[in-house]
Amino acid sequence: MDLGHDITDSEVDEVVELYDRYEEEHGGFCDELKGGHLSTSLLDTIHAAYEKTQEGRSLFSIREALFKGVDLCPVCGIDPPTELDHHLPQSEFKPLSIHTRNLVPMCHLCNHTKLAGFDEDGAGFLHPYYDLIPNIDFVKATVTIDGAALVTSFAIDLAAALPAGFADRLRDQMVELDLDSRYQKEVNTYITSHAAALHLTFRSSGQEGVRKLLQLQANYETKAFHRNHWRPVLLRALKKFDAFTAGGFTNVLTIPDDVIDDLDDEDEADAG
Ligand SMILES: [Zn+2]
Repeated sequence: MDLGHDITDSEVDEVVELYDRYEEEHGGFCDELKGGHLSTSLLDTIHAAYEKTQEGRSLFSIREALFKGVDLCPVCGIDPPTELDHHLPQSEFKPLSIHTRNLVPMCHLCNHTKLAGFDEDGAGFLHPYYDLIPNIDFVKATVTIDGAALVTSFAIDLAAALPAGFADRLRDQMVELDLDSRYQKEVNTYITSHAAALHLTFRSSGQEGVRKLLQLQANYETKAFHRNHWRPVLLRALKKFDAFTAGGFTNVLTIPDDVIDDLDDEDEADAG
């Protein structure tokens, strides 16, 4: 690997040992990973090498490989990832600056909020590569209708059967990244895109049809993202919300009656 600086075999061994330690710690905080025992010139060389992962530079393949197939930020699921987050920050953990297991594609907002909130208590953000979450629902949404507005709120289900400590860390993560309000902003645009489908389904198949439509879309989104992505979480909550499926959605997603009546007229004309 071209780091633009001669590194001895024994220095390479020392760095590999640190990478092994990182693996043992599952990316958790550990003082030794700061590389205090390594020479300053080695630390600075590795740290500076991170810049070479930028497009057009000699280590760009690292960045390219990490972004491959990642369409949305793994933390928020809202925006595409545009940056690499250092799970343990490179300012303090210089030897890990270009360690691929320490690099996570993220959106700008998540990356910068996380960076500001780093603390050394060893908990903090779950590591996307090591802290594997069982395939269960652990994000929940509550939905209500207030006049013409759909009011939603997202939270971690603290009763979900997650590994010890995960629920609290996920909750803190959600608060720190302001995910609840970021999701709320996405909900209206998203649900508006389903307005026509909801209206047509309700007219032809009633409440049960609306429930099935929401379930089908939730299954689709779960496959496209994952079951705890805000979209399927929202859809599952809406499916269980009787006031919504029984026609309450028409207050939120208004289509004027005459537009719908015109639609029926056109149907009749087509049939005739
Ligand atoms: Zn994000």
